Amino acid sequence: MKFCSGFVVFLGFWTFLQAEPFYLVKDHQPKATIVIPDDPSLTESFAASELSSFLQKSTTAVLPIMKEKEAFASPSENFWVLIGGTRKTQELGVTLKGITKGGFLVKRTGPYLIFWGEDDRTRYRQGKPYPVDPKQRSQTRHGTLFAVYDFLEKNLGVRWYWPGSLGEIVPSHASVYVDNVDYRENPDFEYRFCYGYWLDDPDFQREESSLWWRRQRLGGAGYAPATHSFASYVARYGQTHPEYFALQKDGKRLLDTTHGGHICLSNKEFQKILIEDIINTFRAHPDIYTISVMPGDSFERYCCQCAECRAKYEEAEKSFPPGHATFIRASGKHSWIVWEYVNEVAREVGKVFPDRYIGCCAYASYYLVPRNMKFEPNVAVTVCRGNADLYFWEEKDIQRSHAHLAEWAKNTRLLFTWEYPCAAQAYGNPVIFPHGVNQEVKRLKKSGVKGCIVEYTPSYEPARYGGEYTGWMRENLTTYVLFKSLWKVDTDVDKLVEEYCRDLYGPAAKPMKKFFLLLEEIWKNGNHGFKPYYENWSNIWTYLYSAEKKEKLITLLNQASKLAPEGIYNQRVKKTMAGFSVLWENR
Ligand SMILES: [Zn+2]
Repeated sequence: MKFCSGFVVFLGFWTFLQAEPFYLVKDHQPKATIVIPDDPSLTESFAASELSSFLQKSTTAVLPIMKEKEAFASPSENFWVLIGGTRKTQELGVTLKGITKGGFLVKRTGPYLIFWGEDDRTRYRQGKPYPVDPKQRSQTRHGTLFAVYDFLEKNLGVRWYWPGSLGEIVPSHASVYVDNVDYRENPDFEYRFCYGYWLDDPDFQREESSLWWRRQRLGGAGYAPATHSFASYVARYGQTHPEYFALQKDGKRLLDTTHGGHICLSNKEFQKILIEDIINTFRAHPDIYTISVMPGDSFERYCCQCAECRAKYEEAEKSFPPGHATFIRASGKHSWIVWEYVNEVAREVGKVFPDRYIGCCAYASYYLVPRNMKFEPNVAVTVCRGNADLYFWEEKDIQRSHAHLAEWAKNTRLLFTWEYPCAAQAYGNPVIFPHGVNQEVKRLKKSGVKGCIVEYTPSYEPARYGGEYTGWMRENLTTYVLFKSLWKVDTDVDKLVEEYCRDLYGPAAKPMKKFFLLLEEIWKNGNHGFKPYYENWSNIWTYLYSAEKKEKLITLLNQASKLAPEGIYNQRVKKTMAGFSVLWENR
């Protein structure tokens, strides 16, 4: 049998100690039974079906899935694959000690091969573990499922590069076995989430996108770190208590939720309701450990103009004199009023639930740490690093961003970041930076960041391009490496890029690899100093992608197309070319 990793070969000498190899499949015949608990969680059931389904695709053998009480009803000489927290696993003395936040173990002991991880067992008992509903998409842990994915990737060479079947790689095997295996993994970042969940590509169903993200190990502990959180109150109190909402310059209260909801941050009556709501939610959901308290978007434009709020803005501005602005549209102008509000809520909630968190983003005009503010210990901070050009931007900008991060790290135990690798692409740019993104993730880990939300272009690009969207392709390699890096920062980027090109493009791998690496080089060594992208994105075609470079890139794609003239490799080259059509359009 072929193995895509040296994993089993490396452990081969154990065969002398272990009676015989553990066969899941031998010569296309099933040799093991997949066993799930009698009362399986959604994750355990789905992990079993994913394992069975990919073993079948690879070997044609169909492994039965049985509940524990049936599987062990009569004696057998079979091998058993134990999925999740079965009684048998516990009888064998295996525990999840040391496994946290959606991590997992893979272990063989005698005739048993165990896939078990830390899962969310309390929520989402119905449906699928890759819900299309964005409200449910991220806040769950799926260690057992990731144990299965890890096995399929390492031992069968399965890959999920794109959503749907076109980007799925399942090598054929006659037999699948392990000799002796015993390892545990916890993710380097406990929370891995994307914003811009659906690709809006007519070739893919939304459900395929959702499943693809889960296979990138999207998920995490607790709850979304922070996002605009007041919109739902408009329907509840807009008519009866308009005074709870932000007074606008035209003298009317803002009862429009399109900007994420803006309240009057001086209204104590509303704040009391908010605190009660949060306490009730924490009480009802023991697994939720962060709840967001954050104003709607474009705070500067929609913030409350009542006399009390205005006085607070003026006071806050004194502590942030002109010149404090950092990145584009990011400053500390409203840091004091927003974070004071968050702290007040955290203080009251903390009296009841000291171990749960109130989260807010360091965002736009409340991006900088307010000076001389004492933060409550239960405030979680998500720093929105809006200058996505950090990835290969000038070193001084990167350092400035990390200096801000370090300031926040001093004020919170729970630090997340919101990353925007998409911003470079948002203007149609063919920007690829797999190595750069890995370097940045390594820095974030060192800074104590616990999790990342990654903003992905599909959240706004379809509108820009008249609804037709294939440009996700321009982010795909970077995103693939980014999520691998969030799981383990020490991932081998060269190997990932090599495999990506080999697996997806077969005979066209060489020019495709050159194509991606040339794009990365152009971005890395580009003249970014002029920074006009945000004013006029078409400038980038003058400054970064010269006619000569575009011709080189197009030539490589044409070479790839010739080397893969038909079949699935050709389809993938064509799909890639469609994603990079900007190169022709801006010739
Ligand atoms: Zn107000």
